[in-house]
Amino acid sequence: MSDNPCFLCGEKEKIKLCGSVPYNIVKCGGCSMVFVDPLPDKEFLESLYQKKYYDFSESQKKGRALQWMSRIGILDKFSKPGKLLDVGCGTGDFLKSAQHAGWDVQGTEFSGYSSREAGSAVNIPVFHGELEDANFPEASFDVITLWHVLEHIPDPAGLLQECRRILKDGGIMLVEVPNVNYALQKLKGYMNKGNAYFLLTFENSGEPHLNHFSSRHLAMAVSKAGFKVIKNKVGVPAYLSKSFFHNKWTYFYFRAAEFINFISGINIGYSIFIVARKV
Ligand SMILES: [Zn+2]
Repeated sequence: MSDNPCFLCGEKEKIKLCGSVPYNIVKCGGCSMVFVDPLPDKEFLESLYQKKYYDFSESQKKGRALQWMSRIGILDKFSKPGKLLDVGCGTGDFLKSAQHAGWDVQGTEFSGYSSREAGSAVNIPVFHGELEDANFPEASFDVITLWHVLEHIPDPAGLLQECRRILKDGGIMLVEVPNVNYALQKLKGYMNKGNAYFLLTFENSGEPHLNHFSSRHLAMAVSKAGFKVIKNKVGVPAYLSKSFFHNKWTYFYFRAAEFINFISGINIGYSIFIVARKV
């Protein structure tokens, strides 16, 4: 393990949860945040985000299209259309939907391949690189969205601070990430390998996730960066298209997770969705 401190609380002590050479899944000895240690270098990360990573099946595309519309519906509850930045915009599907809904959109994207795809989807240049390098002027945006981005970022605290700087006063940020407490995933890992964190490694998830948030840890990260959390709930699921989640049992699970979250605040769903306001 490395000497790198936890991005959330600065603690250097860690507990190994799942070994995977050379990248371990560890838990912070201070705040219990789960993350990958040591962090891979930038070249390795960029090599993982090629065209194949963005290839979705037809049924997934249908589910994702409905998911984007659903997210715009949520967005409309918190802000009237204005200037929107989608950080880590992928191939631009959300940007395109937001543009149709009347938003003045901009995007940034780490992958060269998908930043080009996104640019042609919305007919404006999409910044290729990390948000911090885009040098947007202070207080430029009414809304910033981060859909499944923070789990990929080596320095989530730095990214959130930059989001705060370029948001207008009172601006809104919408964040969604996968949930480390997704009970189905923990159970599968435990049943197959006797380790609830087994499915989080790069090899087993097929996902280059560096940070594994719980709902408490995501709220901590957002608050520490200077935001007030105004909603913290189970993520907007793409179950509107049942085939996206393969069968009716997982569909039922996601509905149950929403209900449990509604009555207890506990999130065991697939993802965590936070709406926050710049303070
Ligand atoms: Zn910590």
